[in-house]
Amino acid sequence: MGRKSGKKTHIYCRRCGQRTMHKRFKSCASCGFGNSARMRSYSWQKK
Ligand SMILES: [Zn+2]
Repeated sequence: MGRKSGKKTHIYCRRCGQRTMHKRFKSCASCGFGNSARMRSYSWQKK
């Protein structure tokens, strides 16, 4: 299980400040900032 070490996939997002900005996709997993500038939202989301 040493797969998670090494290259990082997510870098710090400058919008939400969390380390959820994808390096290759250029999109934040938390706020959705990146290629699609709209906010991330799902149907199963509480808020
Ligand atoms: Zn973000």
